[in-house]
Amino acid sequence: MESLKQDIVRLTLSDTPTPDIKLAGLPRFMPGWVWLAGAGPGDVGLLTLHTVNALQQADSIVYDALVSEDILALARADSETFYAGKRGGKPFWKQEDISNKLVALAGEGKRVLRLKGGDPFVFGRGGEEAERLVQENIPFRLIPGVTAGIAAPEYAGIPVTHRDINHAVTFVTGHLAGTDKTELLDWAAISQGSPVIVVYMAMSRLAVIADLLMQAGRAGDEAVAIITHATTARQFVLETTLANAAREAAQAKLEPPSIIIIGAVARLRETLNWFAPALHESDK
Ligand code: SAH
Repeated sequence: MESLKQDIVRLTLSDTPTPDIKLAGLPRFMPGWVWLAGAGPGDVGLLTLHTVNALQQADSIVYDALVSEDILALARADSETFYAGKRGGKPFWKQEDISNKLVALAGEGKRVLRLKGGDPFVFGRGGEEAERLVQENIPFRLIPGVTAGIAAPEYAGIPVTHRDINHAVTFVTGHLAGTDKTELLDWAAISQGSPVIVVYMAMSRLAVIADLLMQAGRAGDEAVAIITHATTARQFVLETTLANAAREAAQAKLEPPSIIIIGAVARLRETLNWFAPALHESDK
């Protein structure tokens, strides 16, 4: 109790803005620091308290395309925001520009929040940004986020592991499959070693990935679920099979972002499906 009181006093007496929620025990954001935080897959309720604490204190927020408006609405009203995501399908800022911006803002003595979709270290280039901060001697904190590869299946009623089905799951990026860098992933080995495969950034490569997996011995009638806009009011789930996935995804005109989960766990959705976009709306 005593330490709780002290934390509240510390937060109120400090010159940093006081969060709306008394986030006792959470750190103060010091000027000149960069906090690299995960914003989760979209649903504001999946933010960690560390990220809420960061939003309520940050002077400058550099955020990506997949960070939702509901989440940015939690920021301090007088904070400045910088959009570092894609515009018209193309990255607007190069990775180096983003790192330069973080360095420059921290150098100005700002409390800099770098907010990334999902978890900053899962296919998010957070590692590269953190390395640059180390090079520049900028103090930083890392805040994990709920990654789409777990949350999207979960919001579709699909556990990424189930004791009766799989003892391993592999998270992969699909965007190199079928390109000149395709060999960076050994799809045959993944296919043999991992009963469940969760693929990020895969929509445009779905046909290639399904072919690679079937060539490596995976059955064409294996269950596949494709979850788009997961955890938001626009969530949509396509239940299909490895052989039909690419065709049915094209017919359904699925939009990114999407997570693809391949493996028998996808069938558990028949029993565990719980989320309806209407649920999301009425929560507000
Ligand atoms: N760091 C993020 C992933 C960044 S890569 C994380 O941990 O989740 C971007 C990819 O993440 C998208 O192409 C898509 O595959 C996936 N993704 C992120 N948010 C998503 C969402 N709400 N629904 C479905 N897929 C999502």
